[in-house]
Amino acid sequence: MSILNADLHCHSVVSDGTLTPEALAARAKAQGVELWALTDHDEIGGQQRAAAAAQNLGLHYLTGVEISVTFIGQTVHIVGLGFDPDNPALQAGLAQTRGGRHQRAQDMSDGLARVGIKGAYAGATQYAGNPELVSRTHFARFLVESGVCRDTNEVFRKYLIEGKPGYVPHRWASLKDAVGWITQAGGGAVIAHPGRYKFSANEEFALFTEFREHGGLGVEVVTGSHSSAEYITYADMALEFGLAASRGSDFHSPTESHTDLGTLPYLAGGLQPVWELLGQRIRLAGPVPA
Ligand code: AMP
Ligand code: MN
Ligand code: MN
Ligand code: MN
Repeated sequence: MSILNADLHCHSVVSDGTLTPEALAARAKAQGVELWALTDHDEIGGQQRAAAAAQNLGLHYLTGVEISVTFIGQTVHIVGLGFDPDNPALQAGLAQTRGGRHQRAQDMSDGLARVGIKGAYAGATQYAGNPELVSRTHFARFLVESGVCRDTNEVFRKYLIEGKPGYVPHRWASLKDAVGWITQAGGGAVIAHPGRYKFSANEEFALFTEFREHGGLGVEVVTGSHSSAEYITYADMALEFGLAASRGSDFHSPTESHTDLGTLPYLAGGLQPVWELLGQRIRLAGPVPA
């Protein structure tokens, strides 16, 4: 077992989380996290604040991001860890990836208006801490607060997934570009929550194969999105594809997320933890974790 409480996936108000980078750092520390990364969607504007807050708390930190990718018609998320946040190509790639979100949000709002839900764009924007990053999560919060649904899960089920009135197909970054931006900025790319995608076995094989060919480093094995059975499935996949393994809660909010920071099982023995390969990228705040 890899006995390090690493939590390398969570979101702040800079994307679709509800806590500030500082509040997340404090929560990670209080939850016993020893190595932390803030991984906002398509955006690294919170990295300096997160790293500084971690430093003040004596918490080891890796820079992080979660990039939206379109792979054979589906959205896949690629986490980047330990990159140089000042890298211009990475910054430009992320800006380009965020760029389509305004039009998409307008189209989502139009779709919702057709089923009688008015003003969703303006409503969602009120919940977005970052005007460049209006996401489905912000629409979901608006629909809950305005009494259309009981919770965000219900909103996604009824309105925001494929085939529903607020769903708008969108083309995100390519897998090759996302892995390239992260890797060329000195970081490691990780396939986020693979158990969540609706790929056939062949399509999943293609994702892992192409990811590896593009220089991908690892895969999330232990994540808040996986069942215990999936911990084993994706540990096996990591070994089969020669990928390292990562661990992260995907925490978004104290009231919405079922998995808190730092509470997941440790990575199983025999896996190569991604942080051991990114050792020099860890911003040390005190003694090196064992
Ligand atoms: P977007 O990038 O705008 O498509 O929003 C994706 C985000 O929506 C994910 O990162 C999750 O935070 C959230 N999300 C996706 N599916 C669900 C769901 N079924 N229930 C609650 N939140 C979800
Ligand atoms: Mn999210
Ligand atoms: Mn994700
Ligand atoms: Mn996430």
